[in-house]
Amino acid sequence: MYDLNQIQKDFPILAQTMYDGQKLVYLDNAATTQKPYEVLKAIQEHYAYDNANVHRGAHYLSNRSTQRFEWAREVVRDFLNAGCTEEIVFTHGTTESINMVASGLPETWFRAGDAIVVTEMEHHSNLVPWQMLCKRLGLELRILHFCDDGMLHLDELDSLMDEHVRFVSFCHVSNVLGTVNPIEKIIKRAHDVGAYVLVDGTQAIQHIPIDVRTLDCDFYCFSGHKVYGPNGIGVLYGRKEVLSQLNPIYFGGEMVDEVSLQDTTFGKLPYRLEAGTPNYPGAIAMAIALQYITKIGICEIGHHEAALMDYAQDQLSQICGIQIYGSPEKRIGSVSFNLKGIDCYDLACMLDKMGIAVRAGSHCAQPVMAHYGVSGMARASFAMYSSEAEIDTLCCGIQRISKIFSRR
Ligand code: PLP
Repeated sequence: MYDLNQIQKDFPILAQTMYDGQKLVYLDNAATTQKPYEVLKAIQEHYAYDNANVHRGAHYLSNRSTQRFEWAREVVRDFLNAGCTEEIVFTHGTTESINMVASGLPETWFRAGDAIVVTEMEHHSNLVPWQMLCKRLGLELRILHFCDDGMLHLDELDSLMDEHVRFVSFCHVSNVLGTVNPIEKIIKRAHDVGAYVLVDGTQAIQHIPIDVRTLDCDFYCFSGHKVYGPNGIGVLYGRKEVLSQLNPIYFGGEMVDEVSLQDTTFGKLPYRLEAGTPNYPGAIAMAIALQYITKIGICEIGHHEAALMDYAQDQLSQICGIQIYGSPEKRIGSVSFNLKGIDCYDLACMLDKMGIAVRAGSHCAQPVMAHYGVSGMARASFAMYSSEAEIDTLCCGIQRISKIFSRR
């Protein structure tokens, strides 16, 4: 039984009222998710009882803190079904994870004329680092486009994937369109031509069970704050054989083996990719968040959210003057739209006055906006605690705004 009522009670922020007493309707979960009591308690308890820097101290608290940090790594490993904890690198979030890969790949992997493939629907975090790498090494950046329905143009794979492709990086789920991409198919096509693959799982991991070994990707990354965990913590999973070839891009304490005045040898995985004091309180709280997801059940969450998405699409599409972007076969998490004659920022601001939080703008995906010829979109995005009643409130709100504008 999916106890939505109880789940909502677990997130204290949701009980708030806005402005003149409107109940908060939080539909900006793709930007960041709210945190359950268990995560808030874990952060407080860590600082109240366990805090000491990890991997350094010879004292009791440092050992306890280290044990909790390494326990968190094991929780992440288990959540992803990775082969070992050496494959789990803690970062500050997806953006850092992708930059670490794009900047840390050995230059010897690439020859003049080689190519990298990304899709047209990437968040800037999974586009700009590859643009920079291509400019630096003189590589070609190839783009897998999507159709107006929001689904990737898989036919293009035939012309895109050849022996020049060294790396393929794409999102599991689009942060604008909510499209769930057929990642197994793309990973296989990339591997068939000898390319390595990174999957940006930022908008997937909170909705879909992930098994990195079954997916057979080389890298998978996500941010803690999108999985009901704290900000400033994230994960880079890398298949050990590939991760061990990645050069560190940050240098300093913790990541070294031997240091002389003139030279340094680096330590073992994953520590050689975690220079400096890691965000161990964040890692521990993120692990608690992942355990919370497991307690509710990731499949149960997925079913609840899939039903909500069907309901949302159905209700939104009945609003006069609305344009919903894309109609992918599988959509999860996010749905983006515009209302005829109203700027998306005005729409979001007016909804906000009704207590409804949605995002407006380019969603850090300007090429997606360019595809549809708009400068911005409004986006409603759902989480495990979202409800049909909230979707009704959103749709009523949009209808009220539509009426106000039509009278002008
Ligand atoms: N990739 C996708 C698909 C995203 O939706 C986001 C953030 O919204 C990111 C990457 C960047 O995540 P972060 O800002 O947590 O690093």
